Amino acid sequence: MRNVLVFIALTFCYLNALAQTTYIQAGKILDVKSGKMLKEKTIVVKADTIADLLDGYQFGKGTIINLQNKTLLPGLIDMHVHIESETSPTKYLETFTLNDADVAYNAQLYAQKTLMAGFTTVRDLGGSGINVSLRNAINTGKVTGPRIFTAEKAIGTTGGHADPTNGYKKELMNDPGPKEGVVNNTDDARKAVRQRYKNGADWIKITATGGVLSVAKNGQNPQFTSEEIEAIVQTGKDYDLQVAAHAHGDEGMQRAIKAGVKTIEHGTLMSEETADLMVKYNTYYVPTLSAGKYVADKALIKGYYPEVIVPKALEIGPQLQKTFAMAYKKGVPIAFGTDAGVFPHGENAKEFIYMVEAGMTPLQAIQSATLTSAVVLKAEQDLGQIATGFKADIIAVDNDPLEDISTLTNVSFVMKNGEVVVKE
Ligand SMILES: [Zn+2]
Repeated sequence: MRNVLVFIALTFCYLNALAQTTYIQAGKILDVKSGKMLKEKTIVVKADTIADLLDGYQFGKGTIINLQNKTLLPGLIDMHVHIESETSPTKYLETFTLNDADVAYNAQLYAQKTLMAGFTTVRDLGGSGINVSLRNAINTGKVTGPRIFTAEKAIGTTGGHADPTNGYKKELMNDPGPKEGVVNNTDDARKAVRQRYKNGADWIKITATGGVLSVAKNGQNPQFTSEEIEAIVQTGKDYDLQVAAHAHGDEGMQRAIKAGVKTIEHGTLMSEETADLMVKYNTYYVPTLSAGKYVADKALIKGYYPEVIVPKALEIGPQLQKTFAMAYKKGVPIAFGTDAGVFPHGENAKEFIYMVEAGMTPLQAIQSATLTSAVVLKAEQDLGQIATGFKADIIAVDNDPLEDISTLTNVSFVMKNGEVVVKE
C-alpha cells in the first residue's frame, strides 16, 4: 500500500514539473470586461491555463516573456470562417481539380495564417468534412491552428445555396440528399442533422436563403420551410448542436429566427422589424462585413466570378455595412465574424475597422470578438478573457487598440493554450 502511495506522489510531482510555468510581463492588458487598461502586470501561465494575474513585473522558475512595451488582449474569436478554402478566380473549378489531400494541405496553411493573425478560436461554417479532421489534428497537437468549432458540411435544399452540385451539367448533378446535406422535408432535415452529429460536427449551419457565391440566380429567396428549420433546430437540441443560419433576405431570416437558430450570418437585407425580432429572441448577428466588401470589389473584375454571381455581389456587398449600423443601433447582440475564405485567410482583423467605421466603439468591436463570441460558443468560462482560470489564449499588439483599432491587423505575439505560436 505504501509503495502505491509513493508511486502516486512521485507521479504527481513529475506531472507538476511537466506543467511549465511562463511569466508574461505585460506593459498593458485590455480587460475586455470592464474596458479598463491594466498597466504593468504579470500573467502566470501554467500548462494551458492562466494561473494568476500579478501586479508589477514578476518572475519565478520557468520561462519569462517580456512584453513590457506591448498591449495584450485575449485571443480573438472569428465566428464565421471557411477553413478549407480560399477565394480565387479558379475556385469554381477546384471541385474537379483538387483531391481531398490537396484540400487538407491547403486547410492546414489557412489555419496557420488565421492563428498567426491573432485568432485563437474560429467557428468554421461549412466545408467538406476535412474541417473535422483538421480540428482533431489541431486538438491533438499534430498541426498548428486555432481551436475549431465546425459545422462540417452546411445543410441546404435542392438547388439552394448549400447544394454541392449547383451549376453542374445535368449528368454530374446527381440528386444529393441528407447525407450530403441537402434536404426537402422535415424527415430529411432531421437525418441531415443526425448525419452531421455522426460525422463529428460541433455546430449545424443552414443556408436559410439564397447566397451570393453559389452558381444560382437568386441571392436572397427563402429556401427552407419554417417546419424544416424547426425540425433542424429541435433535432440539434437533442444532440447539443446549435444552429447558424446564413441569410440575406428578410423572409428567410424571420423563419430562421422564429424557429430558434442561434446566429444569423450576413443578414444583409434585414428589416428593422427583423432586427427587433432578433432582440426579442436573443438571436446573435454575425455581420461578415469583410466578405461584403471583398466580393463587391472582385465582382468589378471581369471573369473573377461566374457571370451569374456578379449582380448579386454588386447588390449585396455594399448593403452589409448599412445593415450592420442599423442592427447595432437597434441593440441586436453582435458576435464577430468575417467569412474568411471568401477573402484571404489571415486578414480577419480588417473586420474591426469596418465595424468601427459603421458606428461601434473599438471596445465593443473587441468585446464582440471575445466576450460575446465566447458566450455564443458556450465557452465563456474558458475563452475570451485574460483572467485567472481562463485558457491561456493571449495576443499582443504595438498600440492601444482603443485609440487605434487598426493595430489589431498587426499582431506581434500569439499564445494559444499556453504555447507561444508567434513571437516577433
Ligand atoms: Zn460563409
